[in-house]
Amino acid sequence: MKILVTGGAGFIGSAVVRHIINNTSYSVINLDKLTYAGNLKSLESIADSGRYTFEQVDICDALELKRVFEQYKPNIVMHLAAESHVDRSIDGPGEFIKTNIVGTYTLLEQARHHWSQLEADEKALFKFHHISTDEVYGDLPHPDEQQADEPLPLFTEETAYNPSSPYSASKASSDHLVRAWARTYNLPTVITNCSNNYGPYHFPEKLIPLVILNALAGKSLPIYGKGNQIRDWLYVEDHAEALVKVATEGVAGQTYNIGGHNEKQNIEVVQQICLILDEIKPKPTKYSEQIIFVEDRPGHDMRYAIDASKIKNELDWQPKETFESGLKKTVLWYLENEQWCNNVLSGEYKLERLGVGVKD
Ligand code: NAD
Repeated sequence: MKILVTGGAGFIGSAVVRHIINNTSYSVINLDKLTYAGNLKSLESIADSGRYTFEQVDICDALELKRVFEQYKPNIVMHLAAESHVDRSIDGPGEFIKTNIVGTYTLLEQARHHWSQLEADEKALFKFHHISTDEVYGDLPHPDEQQADEPLPLFTEETAYNPSSPYSASKASSDHLVRAWARTYNLPTVITNCSNNYGPYHFPEKLIPLVILNALAGKSLPIYGKGNQIRDWLYVEDHAEALVKVATEGVAGQTYNIGGHNEKQNIEVVQQICLILDEIKPKPTKYSEQIIFVEDRPGHDMRYAIDASKIKNELDWQPKETFESGLKKTVLWYLENEQWCNNVLSGEYKLERLGVGVKD
């Protein structure tokens, strides 16, 4: 089995590639443009495997995609390549439209061309797995706005799309394109919509690594608004395992929601990181004294929460890590991998605030 992984040098993509090489006998072709978010250092542990190949290609480049499909003849495509940070999509939506919409369209067309030329037995095996986000559903009612006895709704696979940010709107568009290619051309596709991931090798513009690195550097820990926004956190290695399961065992035409059953307010997440650091890297003052509140993100979604019963019932997958165990592993990883962090921070990004508005 040959799996073409797009975006395999990113946070989740690299976890998928490491998972496939370490836990299966499949081969991986990692196709990645290497934007600011792509980092081959995240793949050093498996780069020497004879089952791993890297191709530096932009998913908007149809000719290069055609060459890769012809050269490697993959059985499965796992499509993760994307612009992925909401704050960056507020500052500059153009790249999100290009990569997430036009790039997905370009990849779908090349995958369709490749699939249409396969022999019947290979055609039956082939799958195009589109990796998406729960943010396409918009946000859910927050407990602060509900009566105590009112049940809190969750996102199911039937929840209507209602994206709020340029990022989630571009991902929603790409999901619709994938559905259209399945319905119109019978391309065997599966879509997964997942909640917020955290774990090792996470680019430090995102909340959890940003807080860990700022805390260790003695800098302030900025919290957007009141910090009461709720996310459903999933450890990235659990997500990688779920994704490989869906890519290999999922039913074509289906969508699966993936979540961690870990609804936490952002402020709770930050406080928990501070407590872990107080325990394993104590200093004279508490890390929580570095917390400051800053202006909220424009259009900030208040709550995401996933009903992951379909993937549990149909594919027998559920997360292994609790938020407590996963967060401790993550903090330890950042403490033990200073070189990876220094390398990432030697680029353009220096832990500054993003997402304050379009730069005209
Ligand atoms: P990431 O930003 O860490 O990585 C994205 C990768 O895609 C990078 O390696 C980058 O170089 C590559 N890439 C970007 N543009 C490209 C292009 N035009 N051609 C080829 N490669 C390109 O993202 P991530 O957090 O690993 O997310 C991966 C996927 O999972 C995305 O599609 C995202 O929408 C989805 N997702 C992420 C989360 C999360 O919490 N991070 C949750 C649910 C779903």
